[in-house]
Amino acid sequence: MKQSQIFPKTRKEAPKGAESINHKLLVRAGFIDQLMAGSWTLLPMGFKVVQKINQIIREEMNAIGGQEMLMPLLHPKEIWNETGRWDKADEIMYKLKDSREKEYALSFTHEEIVMDLLRKNIRSYTDLPVSVYHFSTKFRNEPRARSGILRGREFMMKDLYSAHISEEDLMKYYEKVKEAYSKIFRRLGFNFKVVEASGGVFTDKFTHEFQVLDANGEDTFYYCDKCDFAQNKEIFAGKTGDICPKCRKGYIKEADKTVEVGNIFPLGTWYAERMRVYFIDRDGGKKPVWFGSYGIGPTRVMGTWVEVSHDDRGVIWNRAISPFDVHLIELPGGSGKDTYEKLKKEGIDVLWDDREVSPGEKFSDADLIGIPVRLVVSTKTGDKIEYKERGSEKSELLGFDEVVRKLK
Ligand code: ATP
Ligand code: MG
Repeated sequence: MKQSQIFPKTRKEAPKGAESINHKLLVRAGFIDQLMAGSWTLLPMGFKVVQKINQIIREEMNAIGGQEMLMPLLHPKEIWNETGRWDKADEIMYKLKDSREKEYALSFTHEEIVMDLLRKNIRSYTDLPVSVYHFSTKFRNEPRARSGILRGREFMMKDLYSAHISEEDLMKYYEKVKEAYSKIFRRLGFNFKVVEASGGVFTDKFTHEFQVLDANGEDTFYYCDKCDFAQNKEIFAGKTGDICPKCRKGYIKEADKTVEVGNIFPLGTWYAERMRVYFIDRDGGKKPVWFGSYGIGPTRVMGTWVEVSHDDRGVIWNRAISPFDVHLIELPGGSGKDTYEKLKKEGIDVLWDDREVSPGEKFSDADLIGIPVRLVVSTKTGDKIEYKERGSEKSELLGFDEVVRKLK
């Protein structure tokens, strides 16, 4: 892609009133635009990053048997009344009336919608388990939408739902999803912990949050410095410095300013009982399905990455989610077009700075946009290419083939 054609251009100044780093940098670099508090456009480069995040999520969902589909965002009031959430979730739901006075909610989650699908399509134990997911918009009337794209009032979520014949089967799958989520956040490159939390409908089971450390977020949790024990602030009964209640060897530490990027919930039969989602089991008995739901916010993931990976000049993407593989900077006398075409032929996704602006402007834009590898061609580099990684001060002169080898 030619940089001269990218929409929109970068900006020198952060938008007025922007407080968080992801807000400032992603707007300046041209990844997102704010329509109003909590409402964002994913601009072409931002959308590219989110699609890369989504593809990683999709691969891991498919690997555990998830089937992708797409559900509606406009929901009738009646379906939310079946579980009582029309009233219970009043604060978070956007509600509206059409011209015939019929009432609707904009989706803030999809459990009820999946339950409706299941009761129309599940007859016997042979129809289970079911594991379906979608990527779609969620609407939530968030009281404080000040942390940039970390907290939208309209945002993207990948939500997976699973239904099972028994508690045992549900919990086995729940563990699989937990592992798949860990894989996703490892592939994305995060330093994260799996943290026990409340919020499920079982009294004897936790839900699990995936919390990214040192991310300027709003959450706090406690963890053991030796084993995998971690609980969020809302449920942990101890304090920093305590002996770990799980391994009895390590000590409890506090992690604050963390960001929740994922959350999984074992929901049991609570929804099935209220929405009458039953199946006929092997023994002929009629039983409610066991249900779980599992969410990740890809737009929050993008913002979280910026919070944990930037410097005072801009974003530092990693290869997994960078909008391009390399940023090719053409300076006077450099063979920009030729190098661009050759890199493309190698299957490398290149952003080619073909603009007629000063070298200083090109370099500062490259730092702001944050593509992990920067290549420079100029009179000085001759038939070689200067190769530099974002976040490192070192650069080296390499031949074309060496560059390609390093990129692959
Ligand atoms: P929080 O506690 O941060 O408000 P939540 O616990 O209400 O989030 P969930 O219902 O668990 O959120 O949603 C699943 C995932 O969706 C979250 O882990 C997060 O990645 C994402 N998410 C939730 N709310 C938002 C939001 N307002 N903007 C962007 N992403 C969000
Ligand atoms: Mg949550």
